[in-house]
Amino acid sequence: MTTTDKLRAEIRAREEDLVELTRDLIRIPTLNPPGEYYREICEYIQSRLRKHGFACQMIRAEGAPGDSGRYPRWNLIARLEGAAQGETVHFNSHIDVVEVGRGWTVDPFEGLVRDGRIYGRGACDMKGGLAASVIAAEAFADAFPGFSGAIEISATADEETGGYGGVAYLAEQGHFSPERVQHVIIPEPLNKDRICLGHRGVWWAELETHGAIGHGSMPFLGDCAVRHMGAVITEMEESLFPALAEKKTEMPVVPEGARQSTLNINSLHGGQEELPEDFTGFPAPVVPDSCRMVIDRRFLIEENIDDVKAEFLALLEKVGKERPKFRYDLRDMHEVQPTMTAEDAPVVRAVAAAIAETQGKHPSYVVSPGTYDQKHIDRIGRLKNCIAYGPGILDLAHQPDEWVGVEDMLDSAEVMALSLHSLLAPGKDAIPIDRET
Ligand SMILES: [Zn+2]
Repeated sequence: MTTTDKLRAEIRAREEDLVELTRDLIRIPTLNPPGEYYREICEYIQSRLRKHGFACQMIRAEGAPGDSGRYPRWNLIARLEGAAQGETVHFNSHIDVVEVGRGWTVDPFEGLVRDGRIYGRGACDMKGGLAASVIAAEAFADAFPGFSGAIEISATADEETGGYGGVAYLAEQGHFSPERVQHVIIPEPLNKDRICLGHRGVWWAELETHGAIGHGSMPFLGDCAVRHMGAVITEMEESLFPALAEKKTEMPVVPEGARQSTLNINSLHGGQEELPEDFTGFPAPVVPDSCRMVIDRRFLIEENIDDVKAEFLALLEKVGKERPKFRYDLRDMHEVQPTMTAEDAPVVRAVAAAIAETQGKHPSYVVSPGTYDQKHIDRIGRLKNCIAYGPGILDLAHQPDEWVGVEDMLDSAEVMALSLHSLLAPGKDAIPIDRET
């Protein structure tokens, strides 16, 4: 029996276990915000993995954003040592799910199974991926107990709100340092035949234009901050958006529309605060002295964040030359560097070979338009050998009637188990990890 056949048999024999594990995870409604049931889901996974010999550590991200007595940010790291010294392969999954929203036709926290699909909030993003990695690790360890190195599985908080109470916290504590962990796979729903190498960069900033308050019947006695912002937006339409569309990237971002620099205006507010809905009177006639806009600029690996900021400042200077009273403040809110793991990195080669071996085709390499926890593993953990690979269709994430396919989970569990074999149990029956081109 070949290694592939042996692991496939081990995975297929666990189909029912995989389905029940996924359903159990869905039934714990780990909504974030505010961050419900983190402790419960970590304890559930811990009690399962302990039975399989994993050493488990529950870690609360004390003091992280959102952490409180009512909503503690719990995380789990489980580690299974092999029979000999070697490298560590780490599977990292986030435990939180986003709000349910409208439009569901099934119970979002029941874990309904129908026609080979498991439905529920978080089924695809990413409890299905977490379950597949647990099954893959258990199947591999049972089939090859003499493996070298170690397997780690982490279940982490708050990915949907930035990961500061999850992977960022653990990375700061050294749990993702290259001395400790050599290969990281994040089972986000990227489809079972795609390997996600990284993501674009992010710069969020708030621009405030200033004016002077005055009576609305004599606007010439004031200075309208909203008109100043209007001039900024006009300039963005005329010069910035066309320039961003020209900046193309070599990163294989999907969808293809995101293979360029982009900018979204997240919010815009000028003048008086909005009146309460139950207020039936009129607003007052006042010239707005302040207008605020939050921008979300996504940038490419070919760009430098200082240039990204300088480009926007140059636009503001240009507007200022044409408007003598133009005054503004620009406040940095948040930034993330772009990251992209090399196609010849060991974890990429192992997963690519496993996809080719089990699915009979070469994977496609993709990059995510938005960020995920790889950003913390890269920047804080300094670990470059990291990818996202997992079952599920990305477009279903955060949607009503979210689901994950059982067959897809089995297929990706096979890939994960075979990848563990090529990274931790290389031998004469090891699968070759050279990719045909
Ligand atoms: Zn996710």
